[in-house]
Parts: sequence; C-alpha cells; structure tokens
Amino acid sequence: MKYKSTRDVENKLYSGAEVIAMGLAPDGGLFMPTSIPAIKDEEWAHLRTLSYPALAADILHRYLDDYTEEELLADAEAAYGPKKFPEGAPAINEVSENLYSMELWHGPTCAFKDMALQMMPRLLSRALKKTNASKTALILVATSGDTGKAALEGFKDVDGVKIMVFYPAEGVSDTQKLQMITQEGQNVSVCGICGNFDDAQSGVKTIFADEAFEKALADAGAFLSSANSINWGRLVPQIVYYVYGYLYLINQGKIAMGDTVDVCVPTGNFGNILAAYFAKQMGVPFGKFICASNHNNVLTDFFANGNYNRNRPFFQTISPSMDILISSNLERLLYLVCGAKKTAEYMKDLKETGAYTLDADEFKTISEAFIGSYACDEATKKTLKSVFESNRYLADTHTSVALNAAIAYQEKTEKKNAILVASTASPFKFSEDVLSALKGDEAETKNAAKELAAYTGAQIPEQLANLAQKAVRFSSVIEKTEMQNAVWQFATSK
Ligand SMILES: *Cc1c(COP(=O)(O)O)cnc(C)c1O
Repeated sequence: MKYKSTRDVENKLYSGAEVIAMGLAPDGGLFMPTSIPAIKDEEWAHLRTLSYPALAADILHRYLDDYTEEELLADAEAAYGPKKFPEGAPAINEVSENLYSMELWHGPTCAFKDMALQMMPRLLSRALKKTNASKTALILVATSGDTGKAALEGFKDVDGVKIMVFYPAEGVSDTQKLQMITQEGQNVSVCGICGNFDDAQSGVKTIFADEAFEKALADAGAFLSSANSINWGRLVPQIVYYVYGYLYLINQGKIAMGDTVDVCVPTGNFGNILAAYFAKQMGVPFGKFICASNHNNVLTDFFANGNYNRNRPFFQTISPSMDILISSNLERLLYLVCGAKKTAEYMKDLKETGAYTLDADEFKTISEAFIGSYACDEATKKTLKSVFESNRYLADTHTSVALNAAIAYQEKTEKKNAILVASTASPFKFSEDVLSALKGDEAETKNAAKELAAYTGAQIPEQLANLAQKAVRFSSVIEKTEMQNAVWQFATSK
C-alpha cells in the first residue's frame, strides 16, 4: 500500500513507515492511502473469531504492508492486552433499545486517545528502523489535558524516541495535571508553562519552524516529530474498533450480518469519526455517521449547508476535548470526495479567509453520509442525567454530547437501526461536571470523584484512584520564552 498527500496532484508516493515517521506531508497536506482495502465477503466468518489484538493486526496489515503480520501482532498484543486494558479494548454496553455505547477508555489514561496512542509509538519505533533513521525522534506535544498524558503513556520507554509535553500550568484540571507530573519512564519530560493552551501550542509551533534549531538538534543527533492526530499512525488503529464493534453486535446476537448500523461520535478534530467512515469504505455495513459537536458547532453547520466557516466565537465547554474550530482530519474526507486539487484549494481558502464552500455535488455526497448535530452544555447535562436515571448508564460529558445526538436521531427514525456510540472518556476524568449534571447545584466539588462514586455506585478507575500516592517527578513551570531552551536541555541530556 502506498500513500500520498491530500494536496498533491502529482502523486508522489510514500510507504507506510515513511508516512508514520514523517507525520505531515511536505506540502502541508495529510497522508492518505492510494486505495482503501476491502474486506471480502468470505473473510467475515474468520474475522468474527479473532481477539481484539489479532483483529487489529489483520486490519492494520491491509494498510501497512511494509510491516510484517508478526510485527503488527506483537505490537497489538502489547498495546491492547490485559496489562494495558484490564477491562477490555473496547468494552461495549447496551444503553437502551438499539443504542450501544462502545467504551474506548479502559486504557492507561482513561481517555479514548489510548486506543491510538498505545499503538502508534510502536509503529513509529519500527518506522524509524525501517527508514534507517539514525537520529532520536523528539516528540513535542502541547496539550490541554488528555492528549499529553496519553502520548506520555504511549511513548514512555519506547526505543529511539524521547517525548516532551508542555501544558498550561493553570489551564488543566487537577486530575490531568497529577496524571502528567507523576509520569514514569526514562525518556519523558513534562513542563508547565505560564500561559494558556494557545501559548503552549504556538510555542511548540515556533520551535518546529526554527531552522537553525533544527540544524543544531540534527548535529546533536535528534529530530523533531509530532504525535498529533493528523499522523496516519494515529488514525489507522482507530479503524479497528469500528470493525470490532460491528462484529461484536453480531456475535452477541444483537444484529445479523449485513444489518445496517449507524454510528455516532463526539467529534473534535474529526479523527475518530473519520476512522468509522474508513471502516464503511472497507465494507462494514454502516449507515449514517452522526457527527456530534458541542457549542463549537462549526461541523454541524458544515454538514447542514456545505459551508465551513471558522469565523465565529470560541466557547469553553464542559466537553473541552471537543472545543475546536478547525477539525484537521476533515481534510482527509474532502480528499476522498473532491480529490487533491480541490482539497488544496479549500485548504488555501480556509487559511486565508477562515472558510470554504463545497460544490453542490460534493455537498450531496457528504451530506448523504454524515449528519451533524450539536448540544450546548445545558442539553448535554440533561442527557447525562436522564440516561443515568432511566438506564443506569453513567457517561462522561463528551459521550453525553453524542448520546444527545443519537437519542434525537432515534426519535426521528423510530429506532430503525442499531446505533453504535463512541464513548470517549471515563466519567471520572470529568468528575466535577458529571456530578453537577447529576445533582445540580447541590453537588460537592471538593472531592468530586469520591462523591461521584458514592452517588452512582460506579468505581473510580485504578489509574485515577492512586494518583495522589504517586511521586511528583516534574514540578517545573517556565516562562513561554524558555520553551526552546527546555527542549534543548532535554534533547541533549542522556
Ligand atoms: C480527543 C477527544 C475527542 C475528539 O476526538 P476527535 O478524534 O478529535 O474528533 C472526544 N472526546 C474526548 C474525551 C477526547 O479526548
């Protein structure tokens, strides 16, 4: 399988290992496979029998044929085995009639990003060997909370890689901060900065763009790389759980082979829902893709009228991992529907004016597959509470945005198809807001996780429960002007 850039009309081709090592294409586009491998009719019976790691190796090998099946199976077993995912990767629950929650957050950091970030570092480490990279990859991450911790857990003690995470010292939750500053591993570093997330992010971008610094790093035996969700190595492991989710419903006798299942995903950067779309293109009988947004509803408008417009206010919500106005992975969908030339034009428009508008035929194709839906904080809290009270199902704030969309769609379609909802975080990562949704203003926020456990009977995940006992390893907080210096010191330390 070869890859090309979403913006390249000349079809320059790359191998799987190359695109994972590079991250972003040289022309600024994202890497895409030149075709989407199909699952043949006669293969389903076999796929149904596979464990999650074996299924992951099978699906990944169809895209990454420059990796051997043995390599991929070894990596998938290490990434998704009981040591990393004691309660299953993923765990699927029936919420109500024809409504299923696919919990993707039973990994080391209790967020769905573990599903990709437990696998991607292993793929990158092999990619460095396959492409004969002689230098250490230095992964830089700016985080508003979830990504940093998931990347640290994924990259800790991986050969040939170091990782450094910057977070806004006053801009993450107490749980998220504790998760990061107690991080274990010999090749990791974590640093708070005086500033907000945008300061951290633009600081990292400035470092990436500094050619003199790049040269100095190269002389010191390192090169900069990113664990961002636009890396193909993060997207491809996400396709697997959608295939798995469909097969699981068959194996449980909930649906018959060939039945249409709709998919609903709480969306930010558009990576997770795009992976579901790939699964459909491979042959999984998915129907509609319900793209659920919070108050930052740029995608809801896009799927309603074909106009993408980021010129609008930015809202901070109780589902912060979806607070985003530019959904980078949408570019990959544009490429599939409109081709490289048009994609390059739209991305240029987006950069210059903050907006673009699809042609009528392009919009028709996209709006037949995707439905946008959004919920503000009030509606999200209402859904969280009513699903808990009617169905005894406890969801976090992000998943509740999706449940809100899925339930509305069920009402409209009279529950015709089963809906698979991607559940993206443990409710205990957002205890304060979950508790306040359930109890209203009476909620105690001082000890929210304990309160939430007592009120719902749910258990605090072990990964979060023991945080307070862990040793703090990274207490430094620096000025944003000192970031490059910190990177240099870390890169040249042994
Ligand atoms: C990252 C994240 C999302 C958004 O996923 P995308 O792939 O960026 O669309 C949703 N929920 C949670 C909890 C997340 O961490």
